[in-house]
Amino acid sequence: MIPYGRHTVGSDEIAAVVEVLQNQFLTQGEQVPKFEQALQRYCQVQHALAVNSGTSALHIACLALGVGHKDSVWTSPISFVASANCALYCGADIDFVDIDPLTRNMCTEQLEQKLRYAAEHNCLPKAIVVVHYAGQSCDMATIRQLTKPYDIALIEDASHALGGQYNGAPVGSCQYSDITITSFHPVKSITTAEGGMLLTNNTALYKKAGLFAKHGVTRDPDQMQGNSEGPWYYQQVELGYNYRMSDLHAALGCAQMLQLDRFISARRDIAEYYQHELAHLPLRLPLPGDTSAWHLFSIELTHHARENVFKQLQLAGIGVNVHYIPIHLQPFYQNLGFKQGDFPQAEAFYNNAITLPVYPALQKDEQRRVIDTLSRILDN
Ligand SMILES: *Cc1c(COP(=O)(O)O)cnc(C)c1O
Repeated sequence: MIPYGRHTVGSDEIAAVVEVLQNQFLTQGEQVPKFEQALQRYCQVQHALAVNSGTSALHIACLALGVGHKDSVWTSPISFVASANCALYCGADIDFVDIDPLTRNMCTEQLEQKLRYAAEHNCLPKAIVVVHYAGQSCDMATIRQLTKPYDIALIEDASHALGGQYNGAPVGSCQYSDITITSFHPVKSITTAEGGMLLTNNTALYKKAGLFAKHGVTRDPDQMQGNSEGPWYYQQVELGYNYRMSDLHAALGCAQMLQLDRFISARRDIAEYYQHELAHLPLRLPLPGDTSAWHLFSIELTHHARENVFKQLQLAGIGVNVHYIPIHLQPFYQNLGFKQGDFPQAEAFYNNAITLPVYPALQKDEQRRVIDTLSRILDN
């Protein structure tokens, strides 16, 4: 079975993890700061905070921005549920902005309309979580321009996009956002098994996020109320969580960072080959993009029933998938009042989408098998 995505872990990564196991610190040692520095440099951003998942990074991003009860947060319906759940963790309301069917990212025209309506009705969101679907950055300059007059915070969910670029800068540079988060789940650009990172150029947000990730406990006199009582002293000043990354995970991450550019270049070659070899088939391809991190390669069927094609691909040993079931159609979100028809572009995309395998170790003959099988099914 060819999976839709998988990690690439070699002997260097294994050695790096084993070395940590033989050292003094399994957590709170030197690997986490080293990994943070690697991301901070790569993404050309001022601060990087490692946490135990992308979901944790989204949660503390919202908390650091002050998202709370009576606030609302907007995101894209075509994402993993974590992009929306983070708002609900903070007691805020969630709403969605429909996608642009071409980019599959949040539609800037829809956003503009929704902002204008919200401004008139006094229900502007506190923050917007934009999602760089499949690894292609959203139009951040336009989104920043639209949200700036209303003072709305921007979080980039770059779980798919680490290693990609936007406007000549690495995704994660936060040129047009307050915070970027990414994920190191095994199918993502690089992996730490589980893990995530929060990136920001705002020192106050970085400090707040760090507090929420570490129990709300601080040893920094600047963050304390009153005076320190001595060198042993710490204070809990917020209700925080234990979202720390361990040194085992960070060591794996450091070793993976050395391979990131090679991984992205392999993903781009795979995407380009699909673009070329599938061009004649009755389906809609993703927009080509040499700045995308190509986390996913999602096609949309135009003349065939998705279920039938999906099943035939699976039977042929090709691990296809669907990204994503629109978040607002999940039962939990339906119970909040969302319904079928609320975001028609997202629903139309979902109805015909299939994710084809993309991962750095996918071999040419395996990709050929995917292409030939799909061609055979669609020619029938
Ligand atoms: C993977 C992913 C997340 C969550 O990351 P975890 O590290 O699995 O918690 C959030 N948003 C998107 C778009 C993702 O793909």
